[in-house]
Formats: sequence, C-alpha cells, structure tokens
Amino acid sequence: MKLIICETCGTQYREEVQLTGICPICSDDRQYIGDNGQQWTNMDELKKGHKVKISQVNERLYTVKMEPAFALGHRAFLVLSPTGNVLWDCIPLLDQATIDFTNSKGGLKAIVFSHPHYYSTMNEWAAAFNCPIYIHQNDREFIFYRTEAVKLWEGDLHPLWDDISIVHTGGHFPGSSLLRVGALSPKGAILAGDSFYLSKSKRHIAVMHSYPNQILLTKKEFAEVYRKSAGLIFDTLYGAFDGQNLEGAAHDVFAASMQRYITSYEI
Ligand SMILES: [Zn+2]
Ligand SMILES: [Zn+2]
Repeated sequence: MKLIICETCGTQYREEVQLTGICPICSDDRQYIGDNGQQWTNMDELKKGHKVKISQVNERLYTVKMEPAFALGHRAFLVLSPTGNVLWDCIPLLDQATIDFTNSKGGLKAIVFSHPHYYSTMNEWAAAFNCPIYIHQNDREFIFYRTEAVKLWEGDLHPLWDDISIVHTGGHFPGSSLLRVGALSPKGAILAGDSFYLSKSKRHIAVMHSYPNQILLTKKEFAEVYRKSAGLIFDTLYGAFDGQNLEGAAHDVFAASMQRYITSYEI
C-alpha cells in the first residue's frame, strides 16, 4: 500500500485518493487548494527536506514542529504526565530522532486530536508508539485513512488520566475539541488546536468555521461552543501556532471574547 501526503494540508491518504484528484480536507470550505493546484508528496520526501524541531515550553510541555515549515505550519504538543504522555494533534513528519526523543521521555499513551486539519500522518505515529488515537465521533466522516488505532469518543467530556481531559466544543468542526491539562498551570491549561484561535494581540480569542477563508460560525453553532466551554476552568492557553501562548490571563481574554460574540450575535 502506497501512502501519499497532501502538500497543502499535510494529511496522509492511501494512494487511491489521488485518483479522485483533490484532497478532501482541502476541498472542504474551511480549507483551500494551493496556488499550484493539488500536489502530493510522501514521508520519504519529507524526511529529505525537513526536520522535526522539539522545543520545551515548561517541564511538562514541548512543542513539536516541522522545520522548514510544511503545509499548515502548525505545531503539535507533547504533554508529559506520570501515568502516560499525550501527543496533542500531530505533524506530517515522523523521523527516528523524534521517536527516540519521545521514547526517552516515556513514549506516548495516546494521541488526541482537536480536529481533522491536524490528522497528518496520525496512523504512522500511532504505530510507532503503539498507542490509540482519540477523535470525537462527530468528525468521523473526515477520517479518510483510518487504522485500528483510531478510537472514537462521544459526549461532552472524556477524562484520560492525571487530570487530563478532552473537552468537546464543536464550532470550527462538528467534533472540535480542547485538551485541558490540570497540572500545566495553577488553574489548568487548555491546548486549543483551532477550537479557540488566539489573535496576534493576545487580547481576543476567535471561534470560526474557517480561519483562512474567514467564514463565521452561525449563531446556533457559536451558542453551542459557548454552552460547552463557558464553565471551563483554566488560566493558560496554547494554540496551534507559534505565538499562541497565553499564560496566566487566558480565562480573562476568553471571557471578554465570548462576551463580544454574545453581544454581536444578540444571544
Ligand atoms: Zn489537503
Ligand atoms: Zn482548523
């Protein structure tokens, strides 16, 4: 079986998808086809031109990124925890140095996703670390290459271990989720993916159907995100991109941002 990777979004597929022409993640209205049209690559090619850069945020948290940037250019997170480590979201490249580093920290007990934009090469990561992949069942139709490692979860909250929980918000995708990690800060930290999108000013958190295409949520969709997230306790937020670290004041920014939406949507 040959596996191919979309150059625009970094999602890996079985080669048959190529026959249909366009990556189904990129043809969705939240994404876009690259300027040069649909282009495909593969893991061997990525290894030739890129490396994985792992950077420490604090004693329990690392960012995991591709250098030079590829596809969406986002970052995943390695969360260290006594009962087992979690990879939050994923990146397309997996090389031996990354496997060795992660194993030196205790390996992975789970890979957990915010949403389909970051599925990347999730099945290869799960095989390398012999761990399950947690995806909210509302996003099952966006899983185009699925191995037995993928475990769908349902409902509003899925506790893992050590005060680590997956929280369903919906909004950006039907299954969009957050990871709340209690031990990362005094009141807990939220790993947000694209479920909450911290602005450049770090004074606003956006919640949108599409960020690159600037498509708003409907009033009903936003109301659901708000209902599911209003009671969350946290003081720190880490988003999917460099610069989206907000330590200490994250809940204040969240509350003010939600109030702006509530006023705008006349909820
Ligand atoms: Zn794509
Ligand atoms: Zn996204």
